Amino acid sequence: MSKPLKIHFITDLEGAAMVFGFHQTRGVDGTEEKRQAMRLLTGEVNACVDGILDFDPNADVVVWDGHGSGGIVYELFHDQARLLPHRNTPAPYGLDETFDSVFFVGQHAMAGTPNAPLAHTYSSKTIEYYKLNEQFVGEFGLRAYMAGTLFDVPVAFLSGDDKAVAEAQVLVSNLVGVATKIGTGLESALSLGPGKARQLIREGAREACARVRAGKITPVKLDPPFEWEVRVLEGQEQLTENYLRRPGAERLDDRTVVIRTTDPRAVLR
Ligand SMILES: [Zn+2]
Repeated sequence: MSKPLKIHFITDLEGAAMVFGFHQTRGVDGTEEKRQAMRLLTGEVNACVDGILDFDPNADVVVWDGHGSGGIVYELFHDQARLLPHRNTPAPYGLDETFDSVFFVGQHAMAGTPNAPLAHTYSSKTIEYYKLNEQFVGEFGLRAYMAGTLFDVPVAFLSGDDKAVAEAQVLVSNLVGVATKIGTGLESALSLGPGKARQLIREGAREACARVRAGKITPVKLDPPFEWEVRVLEGQEQLTENYLRRPGAERLDDRTVVIRTTDPRAVLR
């Protein structure tokens, strides 16, 4: 008998089926459109938990709500998982070396990806791109490297739009990807229905657990030194001052800062 699987989730709101526009994802107070998107995501998160429990009924699942203004409807959350809210849960978001894998639910692609719905890198209003050691990198990449580099934990599953799935599969071979929609523009997509998305996520999560258990997925890691390049959008030049306050920061031009460090926790978040 092997010990129960322990799985960490990083969720986001933009990658859920039927979420097409920024009006569905913004606002802490919650418009009806935002609440609806949160219900859609929570259903997908619960389906992913069910898929894990199909594989291992004793699995321990810890979910971090990764959406800035909140993406989980608390009263609908799965009874056999536990939740860390977005607020006051800094990186590494409850993850540590005791977990067997990280699963991403509701993920979007990095800023600048063509035809990727709601694509952004941390802030859709301020960031043009991040590069890490000369490679363009988004939220998925930084957090996959965080899990691998800091804790030796592999990422085995991602659901989200098809561009987010492709971005993840370039970095992690053997990752199980479930596309909830085909992106056709920044705020347009051809989406599955919520029920179909949940069914595929449940099946995919079960398969991802089998791959984790079989040791088929390798953690992705980066060795120091790190070179993290941040370029802000036009009109956001004043934001570079915040990045310049970090140790090892140097200005490249009015919109671009590079931060050189050997500390992975200064970069991977
Ligand atoms: Zn995001």
